Amino acid sequence: MLTPNLSYANLKESYLFHHIAGKTEAYLCAHPDAHLFRMGIGDVSLPLAPAVIQALHRAVDDQGEKDSFHGYMPECGAPFLREAIAAFYLKRNVQLAADEVFVSSGASDELGDLLDLFDRKNRALIMEPAYPAYVDANIMAGREILHLPSGPDNHFLPLPEDSLQADLIYICSPNNPTGAAYNRDQLSRWVQWANERGAVILFDAAYEAFIEEDLPHSIFEIPGARTCAIEICSLSKTAGFTGTRLGYTVIPKDLERSGLSLNAMWVRNRTTKTNGISYILQRGGAAVFTEEGQRQIHENIRIYKENARVLMTTLDEAGIRYWGGRNAPYIWMECPDGQSSWAFFDRLLNEIQVIGTPGEGFGSCGEGFFRFSTFGDPGDTREAAARLLQLLKQSH
Ligand code: PLP
Repeated sequence: MLTPNLSYANLKESYLFHHIAGKTEAYLCAHPDAHLFRMGIGDVSLPLAPAVIQALHRAVDDQGEKDSFHGYMPECGAPFLREAIAAFYLKRNVQLAADEVFVSSGASDELGDLLDLFDRKNRALIMEPAYPAYVDANIMAGREILHLPSGPDNHFLPLPEDSLQADLIYICSPNNPTGAAYNRDQLSRWVQWANERGAVILFDAAYEAFIEEDLPHSIFEIPGARTCAIEICSLSKTAGFTGTRLGYTVIPKDLERSGLSLNAMWVRNRTTKTNGISYILQRGGAAVFTEEGQRQIHENIRIYKENARVLMTTLDEAGIRYWGGRNAPYIWMECPDGQSSWAFFDRLLNEIQVIGTPGEGFGSCGEGFFRFSTFGDPGDTREAAARLLQLLKQSH
């Protein structure tokens, strides 16, 4: 009889957003006319940039003409897009060959699929609070996980220690959910640590476009990273592609383990397990990296950043400690009066109709904290902030 992957039995019920949706639905059943201020899920609210839409339309037309029609695309990505992404990195003084860039259908897909490159016996180090998919993908793969908690003491930016034993290290900077971002010095310490041990860093740069301070956008800005890191990027939050789906992954040719090139292994993987990403989407993605596309996506990012500013001002006024907001589209606040994160969630929903995300859902060290997404509607965010300020003032 077939044996399924028994590791799935070790997964905890994926309850965070499900539970939030259940509570929200129950509230709406009881208050059908209520308007909810949704600042929970990290999904964008602004449409794709005009330059992207034009490129998508043109690409659709290309597919209708014999001379410009494209069949199967190269599995690792269209050269025009791989080259555009390499040129984008060069502007930050990161030199990449186009064939070190792999086009993907999003960061989540890649974060799961990339685990194919590593033996199950490797141990994964996950800094928490963390994007829940890191943990679940490794449980599904039957891999041992070392949970590295963080908190206010280290500003939610844990640093390596000699005693840590791990082979695969997840770094998400700027971080979901805390919004914390590593500086060059701190990332250099992780790079050195990984190189010394032959470990590999999976660097999730999904939020790099939100950095406004002088902080690294890419792990490859750090000397030594080419021999120990893979970078996973996404156009989801950068350019509003959450429902359109496009991302990219960088695997340097210098990255080798046991005499095998991880870049060559990934080429082998993609050419076996995929038939490439849609031509139309890749044309839309390439438009993001044009001058016009960059200007337009940063106009949207500026609107999300204004939402962040409104919320940060509110929390400053209320005297609440928080992290993030400056270099990330998330604000991670301490719940007032030592409240649990779910109790605070219930309070916000019932008293001011604001929805956020309880920190406990990102790992046990997230208990006592709460995440706001800044991707919502600006009018809603302003009203939610005003209500939040009133509620927080009552708390004190
Ligand atoms: N990585 C992090 C840290 C995220 O927060 C998200 C989405 O919220 C993703 C990856 C997934 O991005 P994508 O939409 O490209 O799958």
